[in-house]
Amino acid sequence: MPQHPLDPISTANHPSAARAAHALESETNPWEAQAARFDAAARKLNLDAGIRRVLSLPAREIIVHIPVVMDNGQIEVFTGYRVQHSIARGPAKGGIRYSPDVSLDEVRALAAWMTWKCAIVNIPFGGAKGGVICDPGKLSAGELERITRRYTASLIEFLGPEKDVPAPDMNTNEQTMAWIMDTYSMHTGQTVTGVVTGKPLDLGGSLGRREATGRGVSVMCDSALRHLGMSREGCRVIVQGFGNVGGYTAKYLAEKGYKVIGVAEMHHGLYNDNGLDIPALLRHRAETGGIVGFREAEAADPATLLTSPCDLLVPAATENVITSKNAAQIKAHILCEGANGPTTPAADEILSANNVFVVPDILANSGGVTTSYFEWVQDRMGYFWEEEVVFQRLDRIMRESFDAVLAYATNHGVNNRIAAYMLAIDRVAFTLRQRGIYA
Ligand code: NAD
Repeated sequence: MPQHPLDPISTANHPSAARAAHALESETNPWEAQAARFDAAARKLNLDAGIRRVLSLPAREIIVHIPVVMDNGQIEVFTGYRVQHSIARGPAKGGIRYSPDVSLDEVRALAAWMTWKCAIVNIPFGGAKGGVICDPGKLSAGELERITRRYTASLIEFLGPEKDVPAPDMNTNEQTMAWIMDTYSMHTGQTVTGVVTGKPLDLGGSLGRREATGRGVSVMCDSALRHLGMSREGCRVIVQGFGNVGGYTAKYLAEKGYKVIGVAEMHHGLYNDNGLDIPALLRHRAETGGIVGFREAEAADPATLLTSPCDLLVPAATENVITSKNAAQIKAHILCEGANGPTTPAADEILSANNVFVVPDILANSGGVTTSYFEWVQDRMGYFWEEEVVFQRLDRIMRESFDAVLAYATNHGVNNRIAAYMLAIDRVAFTLRQRGIYA
């Protein structure tokens, strides 16, 4: 069997210390984490070798090195990626993130997760993701705009409402999408709102898109509770990450009667045994830019919060926060993953052994792309829906997707994560077989 083009280098000849370091790096490599789950699900599905080979690799990977004139007049060069994992079910779809930690393997994994996510909620998109290696905290608005426009221009032939439709992700937002939309429109000579989603409302955005991911996560928490026969009242929740996803998840959970007792940010945490006043905390964040200094809570260590006693844990920050090192200490009964890739495969096994009920990322946070799909549809129709229509359709799709994943888990005797991959792979593989392999 030839080595897979994206396989890691074998550790057979490595000394033990190097092997241990490699093992840790390997555990937290998002692409390897994605591949491990893909392999397990494909095996369980008896997926034929050819289709398996197709889906185990991204269809297209684009690397751009983009020159940008900085505010001080000097030229900097930034590296950006766009990976289109699959267009089998429709145009590629997926966010763009700006971070110093962006890597090709991370973008590959995020692109594949988009393919699986779109298939789980059964919307007509493939999967893609993009990223630029940069530190937005150190860049002015003008520099960010020039990076965004040049990145878009470098990718212009690969983007489009029928080709590949970006959206915001970590450290990008509605403004970033507006710049991409404008740059694309200038190149095509007409306003093309459907080239991105997550846009400002006045530029063809959808009502409810901003709230959608967190709202969807809260619907998944409801479904998990219903499945386990638990009630919202008295359900004690800890949320990690208080950005778009974590903030809206906490808001909706608090409105529904859950008790959010802890919020963990990168360097700070808050705890209140009687439940945090989430609307007040959201106001505090809007006024101060963070959670520090919120009076009606005790300061808490963010890492300790993750393993503190609670019923429901929602990681909504970033990858690899639950690993083989801390999974055994997780005390939550339910783990509902707002972030992409928060749990490593090694941690999965520990959580499974400890009977933690996991709502996996590719299901739990799919409310974002579902509402992006609504936005894309509205842009193409030129007719915009009321917020209650968006939310009603979103909630229904989320609930039905949860039930579909649970049915796979029951029928195939696998955990929820592998069930979600199986459902997604089954749907994408079906389309691939129907289309056939173009020659
Ligand atoms: P965001 O930038 O709005 O918020 C992220 C928050 O997490 C910030 O408050 C940041 O301070 C905090 N954070 C970062 N690293 C942390 C760490 N190690 N520990 C604790 N807190 C940390 O980003 P977002 O849009 O909310 O995205 C969060 C996660 O959800 C990402 O994994 C993203 O890919 C995923 N996601 C987002 C959407 C969406 O619609 N925004 C959709 C699906 C998935």
